Amino acid sequence: MTINRREPLPSDVEIDILYCGVCHSDLHSARNEWGMTTYPVVPGHEILGRVTRVGNKVSKVKVGDTAAVGCLVDSCRTCSSCTNNLEQFCLGGPVFSYGGPDKHSGGMTHGGYSEKIVCDEAFTLKVPSILDPACAAPLLCAGITTYSPLRKWGASKGKKVGIVGLGGLGHMGVKFAHTLGAHTVLFTTSESKVADGKRLGADEVVISKNADAMAKHAGSFDLILDTVSADHDLNAYLALLKLDASLVVVGAPSNPQLVSVFSLLMPRRNLAGSLIGGIAETQQMLDFCGKHNIACDIELIRIQQINEAFERMLKSDVKYRFVIDMASLKA
Ligand code: NAP
Ligand code: ZN
Ligand code: ZN
Repeated sequence: MTINRREPLPSDVEIDILYCGVCHSDLHSARNEWGMTTYPVVPGHEILGRVTRVGNKVSKVKVGDTAAVGCLVDSCRTCSSCTNNLEQFCLGGPVFSYGGPDKHSGGMTHGGYSEKIVCDEAFTLKVPSILDPACAAPLLCAGITTYSPLRKWGASKGKKVGIVGLGGLGHMGVKFAHTLGAHTVLFTTSESKVADGKRLGADEVVISKNADAMAKHAGSFDLILDTVSADHDLNAYLALLKLDASLVVVGAPSNPQLVSVFSLLMPRRNLAGSLIGGIAETQQMLDFCGKHNIACDIELIRIQQINEAFERMLKSDVKYRFVIDMASLKA
């Protein structure tokens, strides 16, 4: 379909999209699994491309630069969340890159499964040139969504940190927890991912379907980050936390998940959630990736393969993020 992008305003950047990552949220949205999709929806919020035009007030990037756009394209910029660099929690409602009310067109925003995007420079990001651009694109969601809670809840040397699920988010969680110096344990349902888990930085890999293997870790974790996209037992992970430790959920299954309060009471434990990250922290994450030469493990696809990619993602059969080569749109 043809979508309209606005003519660049003075603070706007127009980007010719080269690569767009395929997040499980794209699948949830395309199939209306969260019950809030407005059709037609154009998914994609791991966007990387080349700047083609800039408004006359833009100073962050220039024509020809590589630039990226993540899950956010605007916010009110004045509320307490926005002024604290937490635009994702804007009290006026953050403007997501797709499927949200577009302040300019009056319609809905459309994401990165497209040729171009126009975005205010305040919501564009700079990607370190050392990183391969196709492998860097998914950092814009999978990267920041795992980096932000690992930093906030203090993943570091001397801490035992679990990552649940080795998908797009999970494989970045393993890389970041390892690079931050934590003793990193991957929980996976897929026996075939054990070797990859270790290669990506896990000190230990636990097959979560094995109750005995799980029980060996009871009461031992400082932090567990849960990236699972489907129904699963949160109590099994709460049982692995120490006193005052936290299970932080970033995966977003469409159904409510059952939590026994006894998993929280004895001993005292925390259950929390986290949503992507603010723009400043996203830039900090990209710079961290540049410094440590971290990017995503990807499978490059053509847009014509997107339905097949969604089906493989549902089977947890992705190594470990699909990225669309957007040149295929014009092929
Ligand atoms: P993904 O690549 O499909 O990875 C999800 C992983 O979860 C799978 O690889 C699999 O890992 C595990 N899994 C899948 N089904 C399972 C089941 N029934 N039981 C146990 N484990 C299962 O997805 P993703 O792109 O990383 O996204 C993960 C979730 O995070 C999605 O719900 C997405 O919408 C959400 N998300 C949230 C945010 C946020 O800001 N909070 C941002 C982005 C995405 P194993 O094979 O290793 O078991
Ligand atoms: Zn995402
Ligand atoms: Zn705000």
